[in-house]
Amino acid sequence: MQAIGALWHISPAVLEAVSKAEMRAKRAQSLIDEVAKVNQARVLAAFQKEKVALRHFAPTSGYGYDDTGRDTLDALFADVLGTEDALVRPQIASGTHALGLALFGLLRPGDKMFSIAGAPYDTLEDVIGMKSNRDGSLSSWGVGYLQSALNDEAEFDLEYIRLCLEKEESIRLIFIQRSRGYAWRPSLSVQKIDEVIRYIRQIRDDVCIVVDNCYGEFTQTREPQADVLVGSLIKNPGGGLAPTGGYIAGKKACVEKIAERFTTPGIGKEVGSYYASYQPFYQGLFMAPTVVAASLKTAELFGHLYSNLGFDVLPKPGDSRYDIIQSIRFGAPDPLIAFCQGIQTASPVDSFVVPEPWDMPGYQHQVIMAAGAFTQGASIEMSADGPIRPPYTAYFQGGLTYEHGLLGALVSLQKMVDQKIVKL
Ligand SMILES: *Cc1c(COP(=O)(O)O)cnc(C)c1O
Repeated sequence: MQAIGALWHISPAVLEAVSKAEMRAKRAQSLIDEVAKVNQARVLAAFQKEKVALRHFAPTSGYGYDDTGRDTLDALFADVLGTEDALVRPQIASGTHALGLALFGLLRPGDKMFSIAGAPYDTLEDVIGMKSNRDGSLSSWGVGYLQSALNDEAEFDLEYIRLCLEKEESIRLIFIQRSRGYAWRPSLSVQKIDEVIRYIRQIRDDVCIVVDNCYGEFTQTREPQADVLVGSLIKNPGGGLAPTGGYIAGKKACVEKIAERFTTPGIGKEVGSYYASYQPFYQGLFMAPTVVAASLKTAELFGHLYSNLGFDVLPKPGDSRYDIIQSIRFGAPDPLIAFCQGIQTASPVDSFVVPEPWDMPGYQHQVIMAAGAFTQGASIEMSADGPIRPPYTAYFQGGLTYEHGLLGALVSLQKMVDQKIVKL
């Protein structure tokens, strides 16, 4: 720690605060390492089952008929996520795109979507057409939307869910967001999600249950047993190496429907080439358990550090973590901005850039974002962002290595001390 401090001009007080937080985080961090060991074993077993070979990394062109790299990657993800089938594609532009494909692939005019973990992620508002009947949205195609909020303890409202399922026959799709996203609530454990899935199954067996799995992969030793799981490859399962892409995994019939939305009816999964190597997708999945563990251990360190400094944090230190986000409530704009700028300073890419709050499309308030990442916007890499509005919460996540996360903690705190925002 002393050597790092000398190299980075970190004051003794900051070194001591971070060391103390690290000591307190140790126990939770060693439990995170245990989860990573199980997940690495799961992943390696899947690689061997699918007989992954060098030829699977080769680029393809044109229609991509018999693209064995593409097809084997699908099978590999299905094995690892515990599903029948998967659609894993570099051409899926983002997590929102993957979620949109799943919703449009599964829902038809007259159907209703029912979100049972409160409002879905911000970017889905326009996909669903929640606030306006936006042209092209699900709503403009005649798909209805219904929502049930979680209570303060992040428990499902089982009575209301039953009532809706019994009364509204047109409900065809249940939507569950595993991670907290930009809400101040605990994320959902796999156990809790599986429990509500069993409950729903007793009431209706004709609804498709979709889980927004973003940020959740590999935080536990298995994934939810939903009909469909959806996620982004520049988050957890890309292991920091996948340069772009998304996945949809689940029941064969569901994945096929969604694949026919991704390409066209009649073509589905059979067509689609990639004129670059598939290697980063394979290698990223192989690295993902370790990289997710590094993110979780970093989040635990930040949780202790900023909780010790008197800020409200979620999850609380020592709480189980079901996604990679650490929320920190700063209570005022200046500390939020200084924190994000500190994180940017500790980045390997664009460290010299000073992030400022800006008017991001689709947001009501200005947002500040620190993202000095190798892959643009990749939030499995160390990053922080937050809307400039009360209570001025920073959403901190990622870290390809724990050692980098530790530097992030030192540099961001030093920045806040230098600006006299935090007194030690
Ligand atoms: C990131 C995220 C999304 C959307 O993914 P993008 O890649 O940003 O479009 C959706 N849901 C959750 C919970 C997320 O964390």
